[in-house]
Amino acid sequence: MSKSWAIVNKILPFSCVDGPGNRLVIFLQGCNFRCLNCHNPYTISLCRDCGSCVQTCPYQALSFSNQKVIWQTSYCQQCDTCINTCIYHSTPMTYKYSVDDILTTIRKYLPFLNGITLSGGEATMQLPFIGKLFNAIKEANDLKHLTCFIDSNGYLHQTGWQKIANVMDGAMIDLKAWDNDVHKQLTGRDNFRVKDTIKYLVKVNKLYEIRFLIIPKQTDLQNNAKNIAKFLIDLDPNIRIRINAFHNHGTHGIARTWQLATKQQVELFAEQLKQSGLKQITLPTVYL
Ligand code: SF4
Ligand code: SF4
Repeated sequence: MSKSWAIVNKILPFSCVDGPGNRLVIFLQGCNFRCLNCHNPYTISLCRDCGSCVQTCPYQALSFSNQKVIWQTSYCQQCDTCINTCIYHSTPMTYKYSVDDILTTIRKYLPFLNGITLSGGEATMQLPFIGKLFNAIKEANDLKHLTCFIDSNGYLHQTGWQKIANVMDGAMIDLKAWDNDVHKQLTGRDNFRVKDTIKYLVKVNKLYEIRFLIIPKQTDLQNNAKNIAKFLIDLDPNIRIRINAFHNHGTHGIARTWQLATKQQVELFAEQLKQSGLKQITLPTVYL
């Protein structure tokens, strides 16, 4: 039987940037990309209970029992010493939620919600749970009006998307680079499956938005604006696009030395897409 619980990093009760309307966002732990510019690298791996972080906690919020790290939330001061100690891009501060636990959390905020979004890490790493959760929402009389979205890097194979397509209302997909080598350099993975995901989701009318992140001198998006526009227009000229500007808050390693994206750079890319015929383009409201 597939699992009906998930390893959750965090739940955000309200967000208006993770799909349409006001949404409860569930950040699942674990990712299959290794993006150089990851803003939350401690969400990449599941904790392997090595125990190294236990002694570093200044507030005795961590202990080790039966080969497992135990996190006591009541002692935790959110100082992040443990995640800075971990060499595996993980954290001991995760929660195990069953489908029923999540439904209870959703009901707490229900009057204010238009839907829920599963994010990460990479949410689709916990696909069986997603299927069960979305299904449970669609079957509950008091919840079935909520839309169920996924925020994803698009690496899931089409057969995976097919498993949840009938219970998922939409997905936001990142296309991090156009050229496969550049994508590999940035993320550690090829982008063929990401492009296939975009094509498939458009075909089944489940692509809510495609997202681009402008990182000066690192992504090749600006140089390939025409190729990108052609790819998207052939699929749907009304495709919804969101362009984000790189900032280095929360990043580690080499990405801390990268240039931040400027308003001019973002607007230039947007203009290139518009001139090619794309219409629905959202720009950042603030630049750091
Ligand atoms: S963030 Fe980590 S190190 Fe800091 S108090 Fe909490 S468990 Fe301890
Ligand atoms: S969070 Fe990292 S350091 Fe701490 S027990 Fe897990 S794998 Fe080890």
